[in-house]
Amino acid sequence: MIPFHLEHTYAESLPGFFVDCPPAGVSNPSLLKLNRSLAQELGLDLDQLTGELSEKAFSGNQLPPDARPIAQAYAGHQFGSFVPQLGDGRALLIGECIDGTGQRRDIALKGSGRTPFSRGGDGKAAVGPVLREYLIGEAMHALGIPTTRALAAVATGEPVMREGPLPGAVLTRVAGSHVRVGTFQFFAARQQIDQIKQLADYVIQRHYPDLQELPDRYLALLHRVSDQQAALIAKWMLVGFIHGVMNTDNMAISGETIDYGPCAFMETYDPATVFSSIDHAGRYAFGNQPAIGLWNLTRFAETLVPVIDGNDIDHAVERATRVLETFYPTFQRNWYDGARQKLGIVPADKSLESDPTVALIDDWYKHLEDSAVDFTLAWRRLADAVDGSESPLTSLFNEPDALADWIARWKQLLLEDPPKELARRLRELNPVYIPRNHLVEEALAAASDEGDLQPFNDLLQVLQHPFEERSEWSRYAEPAPKDYTKCYQTFCGT
Ligand code: AMP
Ligand code: MG
Repeated sequence: MIPFHLEHTYAESLPGFFVDCPPAGVSNPSLLKLNRSLAQELGLDLDQLTGELSEKAFSGNQLPPDARPIAQAYAGHQFGSFVPQLGDGRALLIGECIDGTGQRRDIALKGSGRTPFSRGGDGKAAVGPVLREYLIGEAMHALGIPTTRALAAVATGEPVMREGPLPGAVLTRVAGSHVRVGTFQFFAARQQIDQIKQLADYVIQRHYPDLQELPDRYLALLHRVSDQQAALIAKWMLVGFIHGVMNTDNMAISGETIDYGPCAFMETYDPATVFSSIDHAGRYAFGNQPAIGLWNLTRFAETLVPVIDGNDIDHAVERATRVLETFYPTFQRNWYDGARQKLGIVPADKSLESDPTVALIDDWYKHLEDSAVDFTLAWRRLADAVDGSESPLTSLFNEPDALADWIARWKQLLLEDPPKELARRLRELNPVYIPRNHLVEEALAAASDEGDLQPFNDLLQVLQHPFEERSEWSRYAEPAPKDYTKCYQTFCGT
């Protein structure tokens, strides 16, 4: 039996926040992928993680004896409309473990069967979306972006019915925790102030223990979560990631990226980029992500107002509003700082208005947009320009001269390190490999339609080394044909 040493602080501290629920079990589990490096991080004994044991545990057929599967309650705004009860309709938290760095991590199954929160759903997941979550989560991790991660993917041997029958799978997901903005909303919608306080105290203790002794700890929690989201969304924006479904139930209090459904990476730079088939109004478009982040945090703040100051709601609202007003400046600071690093230019301590690096960054984006340039390649080829060869960069633009003035200004602001050294640094900050949509789809189709995991494994290996250019991986760096990207759509995968 896999020795997880599972603990259950959520279940033990927060009765009434979940329902106990066993996994449904599957008929014929087979291991698609085990994340050995994550298993090691979690302190699992790799010798004991044999295929058969993994299949049993990670399908839910035979959980470790210290597991306590629960379905967590949550609510959420989906595309702006409030749903008072969502909850784990196809997921189960089986327990928490302490990783090698002392961090508490949730271990959860996704696609493990119906729960009391399933509403009309079947509680299942298909191979394609499960492997997609695996792949994109690992890519994000390798890019240095906080994220939930996949520990294992197991095929169930059973079909799931979507538009047609698809092969089923269960994903094992590891998260800092699964507490979401929507978890707070569940209790706020029921005016259960004590529960909001309990939940806030729980997340403060688990994620932000330095806030515990503060007299205004709930306001401080709002501030911290706001800062974390500002930093996270800035990181997304700097690699072209589009979450695709930033509903409040998909915003984790831990500051990790969670719920990889219709997410995708932008190819050609355009802030209006949307891939999700159901996002008709572009609510979750690339460039709208900071605004939606703030919208979601405002919903979070509303849940906290009664515990910030229950005796003077107006005053609590005023104080929460002041915290929310820091979100956008914090986002901008993170985003400009990140862009400066990616450009290799000197950080300025002047105000935004008079900082020449701000104008340089703004103009860089304008050039990318005007010439509809591939976002990833443009950043990556800056290193070549530092190294002495500008043509790989300038050839991305419609007119080779389009960037000439900008390059001259950029070079004046460049850090004064030796060019080779600076180019090396830029190559460590600007990935050459991102999960390009055509490659992701190709890998998932092979796995789902033909049971062929080779393209998935190959792509995963590349994405685990996003900064390390290798000649044999050249096809993974190439953008999809523009016609492909124009028509590309992603689906929620439910
Ligand atoms: P998601 O779109 O994955 O963020 O899920 C939104 C809500 O729908 C959550 O409450 C999920 O648990 C629920 N849900 C999604 N897919 C299913 C499914 N196949 N069966 C049951 N519930 C589901
Ligand atoms: Mg969700």
